[in-house]
Amino acid sequence: MTAVITCSGCGGEASTLKCPQCLKLGIETSVFCSQDCFRTAWPKHKLLHRKFPDEESKNQTKPTASATVTNCPYNPWPMFSFTGPLRPMYPLSPKRTVPEHIMRPDYADHPLGESACEQSVKGSTQIRVLDDEEIEGMRLACKLAREVLDVAYEAADVGITTDEIDRLVHEACIERECYPSPLNYYNFPKSCCTSVNEVICHGIPDQRPLENGDILNVDITVYHRGFHGDLNETMFIGEVAPQHRKLVQVTYEALQKAIAIIKPGEKYREIGNVIQKHVSAHGYSVVRSYCGHGIHRLFHTAPQVPHYAKNKACGIMKSGHSFTIEPMISEGNWRDQTWPDEWTAVTMDGRRSAQFEQTFLVTDIGCEIMTRRRKNDGQPYFIDKK
Ligand SMILES: [Zn+2]
Ligand SMILES: [Zn+2]
Repeated sequence: MTAVITCSGCGGEASTLKCPQCLKLGIETSVFCSQDCFRTAWPKHKLLHRKFPDEESKNQTKPTASATVTNCPYNPWPMFSFTGPLRPMYPLSPKRTVPEHIMRPDYADHPLGESACEQSVKGSTQIRVLDDEEIEGMRLACKLAREVLDVAYEAADVGITTDEIDRLVHEACIERECYPSPLNYYNFPKSCCTSVNEVICHGIPDQRPLENGDILNVDITVYHRGFHGDLNETMFIGEVAPQHRKLVQVTYEALQKAIAIIKPGEKYREIGNVIQKHVSAHGYSVVRSYCGHGIHRLFHTAPQVPHYAKNKACGIMKSGHSFTIEPMISEGNWRDQTWPDEWTAVTMDGRRSAQFEQTFLVTDIGCEIMTRRRKNDGQPYFIDKK
């Protein structure tokens, strides 16, 4: 019989949530039942970290790469009932660092990865109109984000682990003087999201080598001199079965159809109508738990952009707005579930899901796709890898 671990916050039954700071310090006993409980316990809990001398903690935060990577990969939650065939492969590699000369977002050094700037405007539906200088800032961040996604695409192939892709992404960010926006955002542990097969979004790069026939979404956001640029694409790994290729193709088309209606005066809630109409015609469903979002100096802000029909999103497009559209389309049911890591969103029925995302600027006549592909003819990656 196994022992029930109690929550270090409330004393109740704990989940698998561990304090990231404690993990770094090698304190194995701090387990919490929920993020909320952890947040409440934080003022008292953090005092525990001080009991560990600095020198010792320095040694323990920098394990050698080989010590971690050559460990036998394992499924961290063997008793969890997974919805599909995919399994996480731990241990995760140690948290990567970003040199100090690179400008960091406010959440980068927060113990819970919270963004005070985002929280200060939470709930507001006011959409910022960017001035010329901000537009230039966004253009550059978005162009660099696309370059980083190009690096991930070049590497994505049978046999490479998603952790290795994350390492390449992280280094590509640093070379371009970018902070990888996902890193430590609400404690997300890695520099990009890698979502394989039935993972809808927010997959955590780990030790699983990509397999022939997988579909892989890589979601990149970079923070460069005060602005975030965000995009993702779904890629084919080796030979992908025709029915899954179709899913990816239709998801891409759905985004293209949504792009076609962006112009001043259009309602944000129309985007979902266009997307759902297209994918329903092919028998697919639209994920409802995750939305497109406003993006500029903040990673996620107003407007909210749902991808499903008949949504109640607020706001009308105006020249100078910047936001993402990022439909997640599933082969089967639209419902999602989250793994115990509190990030990885998978389909409830274990069937596959695909996604494409771009960051847009509304212009006087329509839109500028700020994260557009610049290499070759601008076609998405999956069209090449057939
Ligand atoms: Zn993204
Ligand atoms: Zn996004």
